[in-house]
Amino acid sequence: MLEPILERYSRNPFHLMQILRETQERLDFIPKWAVDYLAEALSLTRAHIQSVIDFYAFFYDSPRGKYRILFSDNVTDRMQGNTALLSRMLSKFSLSPGQVSTDGLVSIDTASCTGMCDQGPALLVNNYAVTKLSSQRIDFICELIKTRTPLVEWPAKFFNVEDNILRKDVLLSTEMMNGQALQRAMELGPQEMLAEMKTSGFRGRGGAGFTTGVKWEACRNAPGETRYVICNADEGEPGTFKDRVLLSSFAERVFEGMTIAGYVIGASKGLLYLRAEYRFLLEKLQAKLETRRKAMLLGKNILGEKGFDFDIEIHMGAGAYVCGEETALIESLEGKPGRPRIRPPFPVTNGYLGQPTVVNNVETLAKATLIAQNGGAWYRGLGTKLSTGTKLLSISGDCDRPGIYEYSFGVRISKILEDCGARNAMAVQVGGAAGTCLARHEFGRKIAFEDVSTSGALMVFGSNRDMFEVARNFSHFFKHESCGFCTPCRVGTTLLCKILDKIADGKGTGYEMNELSRLHQLLKNSSHCGLGQTASSPVFDTMQKFRPSYDRRLKQKDFEPAFDLDAALAPAREIMERDDADAHLGNEL
Ligand code: SF4
Repeated sequence: MLEPILERYSRNPFHLMQILRETQERLDFIPKWAVDYLAEALSLTRAHIQSVIDFYAFFYDSPRGKYRILFSDNVTDRMQGNTALLSRMLSKFSLSPGQVSTDGLVSIDTASCTGMCDQGPALLVNNYAVTKLSSQRIDFICELIKTRTPLVEWPAKFFNVEDNILRKDVLLSTEMMNGQALQRAMELGPQEMLAEMKTSGFRGRGGAGFTTGVKWEACRNAPGETRYVICNADEGEPGTFKDRVLLSSFAERVFEGMTIAGYVIGASKGLLYLRAEYRFLLEKLQAKLETRRKAMLLGKNILGEKGFDFDIEIHMGAGAYVCGEETALIESLEGKPGRPRIRPPFPVTNGYLGQPTVVNNVETLAKATLIAQNGGAWYRGLGTKLSTGTKLLSISGDCDRPGIYEYSFGVRISKILEDCGARNAMAVQVGGAAGTCLARHEFGRKIAFEDVSTSGALMVFGSNRDMFEVARNFSHFFKHESCGFCTPCRVGTTLLCKILDKIADGKGTGYEMNELSRLHQLLKNSSHCGLGQTASSPVFDTMQKFRPSYDRRLKQKDFEPAFDLDAALAPAREIMERDDADAHLGNEL
């Protein structure tokens, strides 16, 4: 039963993620016998395969429901009422979150942000997104499940994912024939194309803002047999959905950007790492790759140039936010749990399979086509001196017109809020949960690497929102997504959530506020990767800028224990028929 899958992936253990995904699609979950079989066939240990299954949220080693429902549980989904809709569906099947119905028909749970914040609340059913949930839509879905209606017979509009492009600039408005930018790059030659990239001052759009031309050059010059181009489409930052739109409607540009990168650095293989939540795009993207192969835009001797061979494979992720970090993503592509590597060495010299590798974001690669087509000097004329070009923003939350907006760098937050119809904004979270929280007095600031830097998310919070709860939601997200590799992040994110939950319960004091500040420093300074280093930023920002939302929950006492020692010891004292009056914590205070 698993042989065709193994054959398709040439029994290559580096393809373990894809083999597990297809195994699960065939069997609904990954049973123990399949783990044994794959371990034997791939010459891997069972422990390794199990560790991969355990690491990723979308792999299951026990049966789920025939219909696997996962409600998107980002803060904007909550603002749009997902909690009530989740409860409504759970009660219709008499289930608790995470439970499977006794007849095996349905399981219902939550997932981190599914990238549908502009059309939420949303859920995934068997990995396919259903958007714009309402009570009526939930009731209809429950009926479809109860009548065991196959997904292909569900109303097509349920699965409609809109682009919602509401402002276009050079990337989204420029018409380009397939192959046009690649042809231009090939006329220039790899060295000259690289020079254009450097002239443009173009910086990567994934968040870190490293200069793309410098990255490509470092990879091109690194010693190694084989080079790789990786497109990071693991868009997991809460509030971000621009890559979804680019891959949905501008995939040719992304593939062409990958091919140009391959041409410059001398790679013959590209890998697109697609997040599991975007499973619905897979067949469409594969069809586009096939069309490009037929048009000689991929494959051997591209556009007739002898020796220029380059092709692209799509690899699916399996639900792990940390895989957005480039070295974690490479680990995942190599069939391992997605834990960030120790750097240096960097991927440009020691990346995929230890070879020189360029890892770029979807938007970065799409924009490389503009530089090939129009030149680096033209691109440098857009935006600001230190942040050239344009930026795509995914705008969601309390505004009339959520969607995709493209602006030149340097645009002010106030202008963005006006354009998206955010009339009553109290706060803006720029850059997702790991980003920066801005209060009203900061709305004159600009989107740019030198001011407010962002990977692309912009969430608006109206004056009726509770910023303490926003920070608490983000903290639980980070705790859930911590890969557990390093202690400061593994323990720190858990402690952060415990303290915030204690404050939410009305048991917080000044002591907890001091602890939050202390944990922020610890996480920022001691964590191994960006996840841990930024996990407490939302808490720190909101403590500075929205302090009343914390203060009104605090008790006046200096300290309130979170753990009730007397209650915990009571059953043992009863069994032993013993009591020790002096040991009661209350007596000591
Ligand atoms: Fe993993 Fe967190 Fe450490 Fe990053 S900081 S390596 S996510 S435990």
